[in-house]
Amino acid sequence: MDLGWYVERARGGPCFVCAFLAGDPEYAHETVFEDEHHVAFLDRWPTLPGKVLVAPKAHVEHAVRDLDAAAYTRIMLVVREIALAVEELYASERTYLYSLGSQQGNTHLHWHIAALPPGVPYEQQQFHALMTEHGVLSPSPQEAAAAAARLRAVIAERTERAEHAVRTPPPR
Ligand SMILES: [Zn+2]
Repeated sequence: MDLGWYVERARGGPCFVCAFLAGDPEYAHETVFEDEHHVAFLDRWPTLPGKVLVAPKAHVEHAVRDLDAAAYTRIMLVVREIALAVEELYASERTYLYSLGSQQGNTHLHWHIAALPPGVPYEQQQFHALMTEHGVLSPSPQEAAAAAARLRAVIAERTERAEHAVRTPPPR
């Protein structure tokens, strides 16, 4: 991945989330979950395996002030659910959650879910592990599709388990 190209694209291109949702093939991503208001998809240039982004479908920019309490709670519950699915598939010493972006590029609100594998040396954890400047993984389209399919299966399984638990309350 060419960092200069990436920065140019982020700052000069269309909104990457809106373009993805509109079906622009230049901005295609592997979707792992969607509901009426949210979409979760694999990071195209992950710094850690299984890295997922969660965004509102509406072009919202600010993580806190652009969402009312209900919308904020809804997206955070989606982030939690996807992060739990990521943790089922990827061993993690720690699961990082963060929202960055800029008013100068990548304005559309998105949360990052990044599972730090166990055993990464302390000085290579945290911000070091997340910065594209320190290298990105380059999964092939086939590897990304397979990873997305595994995540979708785990998310579906978790949803099924939760619905089953609601349908069949424990015996008294
Ligand atoms: Zn947008």
